[in-house]
Amino acid sequence: MRYVSTRGSAPVLGFGDTLLAGLADDGGLYVPESWPLLADGGQGDYVETAVEVMAPFVAGSIHEDDFATMVSEAYAAFDVPDVTPLVELSDGIHLMELFHGPTLAFKDVALQLVGRLFDHELSRRGERATIVGATSGDTGSAAIEACRDRDAVDIVILHPAGRVSDVQRRQMTTVQSANVHNVAVDGTFDDCQDLVKAMFADVAFRDEVRLSAVNSINWARVMAQVVYYVVAAERLGGRRAPVAFSVPTGNFGNVFAGHVARLSGLTVPQLVVGSNTNDVLTRFFTEGTMDITEVVPTTSPSMDIQVSSNLERLLFEINGRDGAAVGAQLDDFRATGTFRLDPVQHASLASGWAGARFNDDAVRACIADEAVRSGLVLDPHTAVGVLAARACRRDPLIPMVALATAHPAKFPDAVEAATGSRPELPDHLADLHDRPERLTALPADVAVIEDFVRSHRR
Ligand SMILES: *Cc1c(COP(=O)(O)O)cnc(C)c1O
Repeated sequence: MRYVSTRGSAPVLGFGDTLLAGLADDGGLYVPESWPLLADGGQGDYVETAVEVMAPFVAGSIHEDDFATMVSEAYAAFDVPDVTPLVELSDGIHLMELFHGPTLAFKDVALQLVGRLFDHELSRRGERATIVGATSGDTGSAAIEACRDRDAVDIVILHPAGRVSDVQRRQMTTVQSANVHNVAVDGTFDDCQDLVKAMFADVAFRDEVRLSAVNSINWARVMAQVVYYVVAAERLGGRRAPVAFSVPTGNFGNVFAGHVARLSGLTVPQLVVGSNTNDVLTRFFTEGTMDITEVVPTTSPSMDIQVSSNLERLLFEINGRDGAAVGAQLDDFRATGTFRLDPVQHASLASGWAGARFNDDAVRACIADEAVRSGLVLDPHTAVGVLAARACRRDPLIPMVALATAHPAKFPDAVEAATGSRPELPDHLADLHDRPERLTALPADVAVIEDFVRSHRR
């Protein structure tokens, strides 16, 4: 399999180079040169389906047996045998629980595999890398769990001091691995992101420590997420049976994986995009426009985003894979702060996509109501997706799957405000609040942070 950039002018790469590159040289995102077709079948367990679905995407880069071993190890880290179980909500909508990995959020599904893929590819080349990232919560812990104790990588995660929740901070700072480093930056999340950008922009430093990232634009993360869409169809009627999905959306990585499953032959009549008050994507699908506005903090912080980076991959498809046209659309957006989709392109999205937005009051009511009706406790992100599923579902005869992206105990304050009781952490994290923390407080100064990275990588 070869990969091309959504802007059309970066070198065409194989899977291994795409994995390590992240962003393409021309500023675009990598996508497969063509979409593989999903075979019939699907009688196996999660790992067997995962290996089969992803095999065409890594073909030519990774030996089949090595790949199967990595997939198997990645999902052995989940605390239920079927990895992403389905349960039923009070109104018959299915909930697929994607939060049974080590850090209780769906990002583990991709990152547990991506950490292993990175280590494998670097070791094969006899290279090492230093992964740096900024986090406002979920991504940092999932990346740390994915990279801990891996031979070829060191990882440094910056978080804004005092501005992430206790659970989120402790999930990062209680990892006692020699290759894991947490920096509490005296500043905001934006400061942390700016520091990471500044490190990448410092070419001498970037090359010296072989800087790398596992952020949500990395193709391998999308690839790993395609699997559970296929698994949901298998469990609900077979690979050729129609299934609709509703996805609480931030950077558009999760729901785009559903679109990839559809492009590969899964019958997905409807993909519903759920937004919180930061509703840029809902406006994109309903009105065909996007305007950059201020980010508003909500009870679903992992969706508090204004520009969804993975949307570029959808733009590439609706532009007939014309990278120059995508580049022109995005340049215009950057220059004016406003995006207006061509009416024909907008119309082409009407049948397969829907979007709806919900504020924190609606989310709180949904969590409270579902807890009473079915006893299932939703986290605020999941509740946004469930609300969107109910609002946008078109055909009651087609199963609708809402994706549950986080365990309720990851957002205990919002859940307690809705239900009156505090959700408990699962067994493997029950003593999280007693574990010793390890972190370094540093000022928001790029020279200081670079020195820290230089002296702590192995
Ligand atoms: C990251 C995240 C999302 C958003 O996923 P995207 O792929 O960015 O759209 C939703 N819910 C939770 C809990 C998350 O951590």
